[in-house]
Amino acid sequence: MAVLVTGGAGYIGSHAVAALQERGEEIVVVDNLQQGHRKALLGGKLYEGDLRDAAFLDTVFQENDIDAVIHFAANSLVGESMKDPGKYYHNNVFGTLCLLEKMNEYNVRKIVFSSTAATYGEPENVPIDEYDRTLPTNAYGETKLAMEKMMKWFDVAHNIKFVSLRYFNAAGAHESGKIGEDHSPETHLIPIVLQAALGQRPHISVFGEDYDTPDGTCIRDYIHVSDLADAHVLAVDRLRGGEDSSVYNLGNGTGFSVKQVIDIARAVTGREIPAVMEARRAGDPAVLVASSDRARKELGWNPKRDKLEDIIKSAWSWHEANPKGYNDK
Ligand code: UDP
Repeated sequence: MAVLVTGGAGYIGSHAVAALQERGEEIVVVDNLQQGHRKALLGGKLYEGDLRDAAFLDTVFQENDIDAVIHFAANSLVGESMKDPGKYYHNNVFGTLCLLEKMNEYNVRKIVFSSTAATYGEPENVPIDEYDRTLPTNAYGETKLAMEKMMKWFDVAHNIKFVSLRYFNAAGAHESGKIGEDHSPETHLIPIVLQAALGQRPHISVFGEDYDTPDGTCIRDYIHVSDLADAHVLAVDRLRGGEDSSVYNLGNGTGFSVKQVIDIARAVTGREIPAVMEARRAGDPAVLVASSDRARKELGWNPKRDKLEDIIKSAWSWHEANPKGYNDK
């Protein structure tokens, strides 16, 4: 049986493909390569196309013996989603509807879903657990929540079981040095800080210094991308074991402010990294830190690369060795 990975050529998807490959799974990847990179695939059979193309998905499901799906394919930028929410509803929500309908048609009843801490919005409690209120502050998070709700009703009606993994801030790169983070445009804090360290940007812009946090900058919970990848493999195992649908937070449980991230990156790289204070970015909650107790207990998940310094070191190795990323666009 094969695992279908949608968005498998993207940043987190490609690390999940690597983790599946390491344990000898048969892998089918669907990616429209808008954000993804062919070179990011360390395994799997690639079908280049879009989830909203029904004939394309028919081919994928007809040509392969798929028993489980890991669904990454989506747009994922908070800032962009505030300017163009329609793009997010179309690609994320409608794309997921197309996928679930085809899964139902081809009798594939297990899906692991790439969700986000952005589903919570401004948290009621810190750290956040899975029972906390979900009230997104941005359109990206709202579409991911809509996708989770859609899966719930496909479970009720069609017995499609899901595991939704709500990630906090993914960072770092694969230990092989072969794959890492390469977005275009890049909007995430750690790669931008490292681009500034490489001299590819004049400085890092700090979005907001007036948040209700000790140093005034936003606090996030950074988690190594390979630890996230491992959780997806465990989630596939859980569904194959016949367990019911569930939702898990994935984070390290420790928050770092934007200024702390920049300081650690300065220490790791030995570079100056100039920082410039700017206005807040629309849609950003002040603090997002996970309680991942449930994932540890029920999935047996145990993040192994949990020191932020080591996470930034692995990202720095990738950026130093690949200053132009995959250089394929
Ligand atoms: N951030 C920043 N400057 C940048 C990019 C990000 O100050 O150039 C901040 C952003 O406002 C947020 C944090 O860094 O508070 C993490 O942002 P990122 O986009 O990496 O992840 P998100 O939390 O939005 O998923």
